Amino acid sequence: MLPMTALPADLLARELRGPRYTSYPTALAFGPQFGVADYIGAARELARHADPLSLYFHVPFCASNCYYCGCNRVVTRNRERIERYFVALLAELKMHSALLSRGPEVVQIHFGGGTPNMFSVGQFARLLAAIHQRLRVAESGRLELSMEVDPRLAEASDIYSWRALGFNRLSFGVQDVNDSVQLAINRVQSRERIAELTACARRAGFSSINYDLVYGLPLQTPARLAGSLDFVIEQRPERIAAYHYAHLPQRFPAQKAIDEAQLPTPEVRQQLRAMIHGRLLLAGYRAIGLDHYALPDDALARAQQDGTMRRNFQGYSTLQGCELVGLGVSAISQLRGCFAQNDTDVDRYLAAVETGRLACVRGYRQTDDDRLRAEIIEAIMCQGEVDFAKLGLRYGDDLAERFEPELQRLRQLAGAGDWLTVGPWGLRVSESGRALLRVVAMVFDRQLQAGDDARRYSSIA
Ligand code: SF4
Repeated sequence: MLPMTALPADLLARELRGPRYTSYPTALAFGPQFGVADYIGAARELARHADPLSLYFHVPFCASNCYYCGCNRVVTRNRERIERYFVALLAELKMHSALLSRGPEVVQIHFGGGTPNMFSVGQFARLLAAIHQRLRVAESGRLELSMEVDPRLAEASDIYSWRALGFNRLSFGVQDVNDSVQLAINRVQSRERIAELTACARRAGFSSINYDLVYGLPLQTPARLAGSLDFVIEQRPERIAAYHYAHLPQRFPAQKAIDEAQLPTPEVRQQLRAMIHGRLLLAGYRAIGLDHYALPDDALARAQQDGTMRRNFQGYSTLQGCELVGLGVSAISQLRGCFAQNDTDVDRYLAAVETGRLACVRGYRQTDDDRLRAEIIEAIMCQGEVDFAKLGLRYGDDLAERFEPELQRLRQLAGAGDWLTVGPWGLRVSESGRALLRVVAMVFDRQLQAGDDARRYSSIA
């Protein structure tokens, strides 16, 4: 396999500015022309089907401010404020449930943030009870119940309590365990704490543990990262996500606290990325899509192997044909070919929900062309290849002819390299080109090609 640094530098730089394609079109295309009435129509249509449904709850609160953060979050430890938001989530759930009736079957519930474990065990218990009471939920063996965890706020007893409530997957925000890097990003958490929580999760019977890592952080060097990877590999989480840090202080004010002189150069960032990739493969992990890794017997690795892996707002997923309802500030729903996003401001979100209104303020209805492009982009991001013959049969179109301009553009990108193969049959990104999946996907992004500025995109979901 070619080292990643052998890929053209200009394409690697472009890749880091590309959308993460957790949807197509991306959220930048959402607008106020799609509002509450459109969402209600889509939800009522979904209610007539027994489709699998995923619920996403956004918990925006964090106990302190990580300097690299690009998430929608509020720093507070005020329990009253958190309880008020929690009660609003219950009210929003009630409104969505009334629309969905007991049609679709909930097969996944995920809590993201922010810091979901700012909610107490009691709050999780109340919320889960309300979901079971109001919606049709898959039996526990088929239900994926997961949460993103800030290790600094978790105790061993929490892990056992969450498991008793039915949680079966945890994702720990590890980022980097090097002391200097942790100080530079204002996120100090000990290796001992992470190791203890991981061991507890294993003993409690969690079926899958994920670690989120970030590379490109201030003071990260290959030597420091090597030490952090030793620790991560020793813990052996089933899944690892390795995100690139995008330094966009104008867009994410928390990042202004980062000393730019401490950021790794583009060359060092590529070395860090190549090191993560090489070390994890050597340790027995499989590379998944753009930036994920999984042990071979993990469901995600199996899904990638048999071609059933999907991509949605939560990243890579094993769930097929799942509709999504997002609850909470800034949460996005995806159902019946529509996207709907809640207000990104907590106060406005609360004002809407507390007066009995859904908080959806923008969205988008996919066209037939969007749906086809979404499938192509998802195939690139998940499998690194697109079979035009197979896809064309379903869409009743000669895709080689329809996408000739895109294929031409891809041939130019590929140049003399062997990282990308293009033909009338479709395209294939080789293992050595994995780092450029987004560059290939961007060619099929009509909105981007029509003139959207790629610099507006973040590299962190
Ligand atoms: S990185 Fe996570 S824990 Fe830190 S401020 Fe952002 S959302 Fe909160």
